[in-house]
Amino acid sequence: MRQNDKVIVVGGGIVGLCCALAVQRRGGSVLLIDPNRNPPPASYGNAGHIAIEQVEPLASLAMLRSVLRRLTIFGGPVSLPLGQIGKWLPFGFRLAAAARPERFAAGKAALGALLGEAMPAWRRLAASLEPSGLLMESGHAVVWHGERAAADGLRAWQGTDTGTARFHACSKEELAWLGRVMKTPPAGGIRFENTGQVADPASVLAALDDAFRQAGGERRIALVRAIEIAGNSAELVLADGERLGPRHLVIAAGVDSGALLKPLGLQAPLIAERGYHIQTAKHGWPADLPPIVFEERSLIVTRFRSGVRASGFVEFGQRDAPPDVRKWRRLEEHAAALGLPADGPWQHWVGSRPTLPDYLPAIGKVSQASNLFYAFGHQHLGLTMGPVTGELIAALIGGQDPQIALKPFDLMRFA
Ligand SMILES: Cc1cc2nc3c(=O)[nH]c(=O)nc-3n(C[C@H](O)[C@H](O)[C@H](O)COP(=O)(O)OP(=O)(O)OC[C@H]3O[C@@H](n4cnc5c(N)ncnc54)[C@H](O)[C@@H]3O)c2cc1C
Repeated sequence: MRQNDKVIVVGGGIVGLCCALAVQRRGGSVLLIDPNRNPPPASYGNAGHIAIEQVEPLASLAMLRSVLRRLTIFGGPVSLPLGQIGKWLPFGFRLAAAARPERFAAGKAALGALLGEAMPAWRRLAASLEPSGLLMESGHAVVWHGERAAADGLRAWQGTDTGTARFHACSKEELAWLGRVMKTPPAGGIRFENTGQVADPASVLAALDDAFRQAGGERRIALVRAIEIAGNSAELVLADGERLGPRHLVIAAGVDSGALLKPLGLQAPLIAERGYHIQTAKHGWPADLPPIVFEERSLIVTRFRSGVRASGFVEFGQRDAPPDVRKWRRLEEHAAALGLPADGPWQHWVGSRPTLPDYLPAIGKVSQASNLFYAFGHQHLGLTMGPVTGELIAALIGGQDPQIALKPFDLMRFA
């Protein structure tokens, strides 16, 4: 069926919802399509941190040098499951190429520009949503328990480009303040001043959905099976065989976006970087504490309206592989060893960060069709960059100049 007046957004995660709302509010008539999968996607299960400090792409020589000691077999967060070697080995080669100093520098400039706009875009969006208070600009902390780790960690952060994010080494008082939730107070820490968190990822998704519907947007529970080009236009085929021919089409299907674009001859070498979380509503975590990163354990703990969540792990592979239950156990062991004021029963969740080998998102327009746009590959930073991505896509669809240069995010870099 032709839907010439419609903008169709495929994917109802944070990126798709931000795009759908921004386009709808600029006068578009948007239909958002998502299958409502269970477990829900990364946009629901993330750590809630508005991480504007992470301007250095993870495709770096430093990351490659540290990967061996960061493997789970040595107690670290990174897994490269043997059964998934066909996924992560080619990804690893591309990552190594993207980590070359000149590409890393260009990637950092590009990510820095996007993250520089991320908090202003979040502020604009949050101010327009109900309920208020979804964005909390109360910073975050990184702590270490070992003296040596604290000294090395501080030095490493002092040598890291953190873009527009500012931090300082924690005073004794700040360490005691943070240490309230730990059996043993940390030996050292840093406090980021102008980063933030959301009140609850699920509440953010619900608020975006409400705002989208109130603005006149429509939503449909369905799976898109394929995209086809008819003439110069992209059309959709749903799983039940129905065809939709929209005026504009935005692919924001997270880690599944690559498979949708491949038949059109477009390379989007995404990998699922799976993360795990545990969450409990039974806790005594003080409301004034920002997210805390326990860097020696590669763990971030965030207090949400719905409970305290501990998130971690980076497992390279496939979105729908069976979960590794040992990782939930390990997160529970970390919580117990730290003495966090949180009791089970813990809820368990696993989901995929959609990651491209250079750790830059793909945001732009396809040249093969006059109406096809894309926004995916936001890796560890999709919650942070969702609102700015929505603004960029709305500008592109509206024929305006986007507020930052989109060339570095063009999919053709993988051609
Ligand atoms: C443990 C963990 C912690 C994280 N912490 C943070 C954090 O603190 N801060 C931060 O900024 N980011 C964080 N992230 C990353 C962030 O969650 C992701 O980058 C972000 O959620 C990606 O959003 P998305 O909308 O692109 O994809 P998703 O959330 O995966 O949503 C994609 C949607 O597309 C739908 N879809 C897929 N295929 C189709 C199809 N064929 N047809 C229709 N719909 C389809 C899916 O059902 C899904 O709803 C974290 C991720 C993890 C795993």
